[in-house]
Amino acid sequence: MMMRLLFWLALAVLVIFAIRSKVRAAARAQAEAPRPNARAEISAESMTSCAHCGLHFPASEAIHADGLDYCSPAHVRLPPP
Ligand SMILES: [Zn+2]
Repeated sequence: MMMRLLFWLALAVLVIFAIRSKVRAAARAQAEAPRPNARAEISAESMTSCAHCGLHFPASEAIHADGLDYCSPAHVRLPPP
C-alpha cells in the first residue's frame, strides 16, 4: 500500500516537473523570438526585395507587412506577379 502511494507521488512530481519545464521552455522561446520588424531593422544595411514586383532596395526603406517586405505602400499585400 505504501509503495503504491509513493509511486503515485513520484508520478505526480514527475508530471509537475514536466509541465514546469515545458512552460519555462515556451516562455523562453517567446522571450527570445525576435519580432520580424526588429530583426529587419537590425539588418538595415542589407538589401531586400519587394514581395510584389521583385525590386531590390535597402531593407531600411522596406515597408513591412505580414512578415514580407515591399518597395512602396502601393505594393503592400499585393500578390507576387
Ligand atoms: Zn514593389
